[in-house]
Amino acid sequence: MADQNSPDRRMMDLLHGRAAELGKGESLTPPIVNAAKYALPGAPDHAFPYGRFDNPTWKSVEAAIGALEDAETICFPSGMAAVTAALMACLKPAAKVLLPSDGYYTVRVLLDEFFNQHGIETTEIPTADMTEHPVDGYDLVWIETPSNPGLDVCDIATIARRTHAAGGLVCVDNTTATPLLQGTLGLGADITVSSDTKALAGHSDVLFGHVSSRDAALMERVRNWRKLSGSTPGPAEAYLAYRGLMTLELRLARMCESAASLANLFYSHKAVQAVRYPGLANDPSFKVASIQMAKPGFVIGVTFADEATAEKFITDCPAIFAATSFGGIQTSAERRARWGDAVPEGYVRLSVGCEPAEALFAAIEQTLGTL
Ligand SMILES: *Cc1c(COP(=O)(O)O)cnc(C)c1O
Repeated sequence: MADQNSPDRRMMDLLHGRAAELGKGESLTPPIVNAAKYALPGAPDHAFPYGRFDNPTWKSVEAAIGALEDAETICFPSGMAAVTAALMACLKPAAKVLLPSDGYYTVRVLLDEFFNQHGIETTEIPTADMTEHPVDGYDLVWIETPSNPGLDVCDIATIARRTHAAGGLVCVDNTTATPLLQGTLGLGADITVSSDTKALAGHSDVLFGHVSSRDAALMERVRNWRKLSGSTPGPAEAYLAYRGLMTLELRLARMCESAASLANLFYSHKAVQAVRYPGLANDPSFKVASIQMAKPGFVIGVTFADEATAEKFITDCPAIFAATSFGGIQTSAERRARWGDAVPEGYVRLSVGCEPAEALFAAIEQTLGTL
């Protein structure tokens, strides 16, 4: 039998967990419950008193993601709504936060523009330095691994051990890996967030996010934040995330396998100056990634000579959508410098999709040959 914590076991729980609560004649899929009001005679003590407090469709997707995380899970209408909820749950007045300087840009802007004015102090350091950096005096260590867009990796277990010894909390943004490829809470993180807009829902048709933790007091604060701030997902969006999630393992298997062979193609191709992929044996992320990740993922960083070559690669390749974001079923790519990220002008973040592997490889190889 599969180990209780293996990805296979968790995926089986995710796919079959609903069976336990199904009555005869009920649908295998969760209903989309469009409810602002629920019948509530007498004392207001039911689990569903009002639409902003809870919703049966949220509960279904939370149970499914919770099976993957092996932890209590609360869903949100976007990744940033989940990030905000985790910050609100973890931070006290004048808290000090250690933050990656090369992680998701919007998290840094959110702290700068809204949290810092309430006395929260942030220190930014590169993800590559995170494992070794002193953590004394920080109330929260926020990490993102692999980092987006640079694909550096830090050691979650080591950071959690050191931060806990110094009295702080660790939150991991696990968007790039998803909980199937990287069990952040099992590695010691106190709380984890994900933009499920990316690979978890996976079809580029919904914004969604979640927060998970095994710390009941933290989750109480996360739940209260959702209820009081009104940061609530629509039931139809919750259903789309649920539906996408059902094929996560299947999609990731194809995406990661194609990414591994494409990373080798880029690595050996003369049109490419540099490649970042945590699965390449000489990548700076390889050692830690191979310990803490089940697979090295589906995002590849490819550096071309300059902006023009990078743009030509993206627009000429018929198997690549020119689009921001990542984790969808269609391969997509963009030059991250166009957003002002601190990467070379020719740096392309490629999100490998679910196309037939050989057709995708051939299309990309063909385009590389024209550069
Ligand atoms: C996209 C992303 C987010 C924000 O998610 P949204 O769903 O767009 O709000 C947060 N963190 C990381 C690492 C992301 O890639």
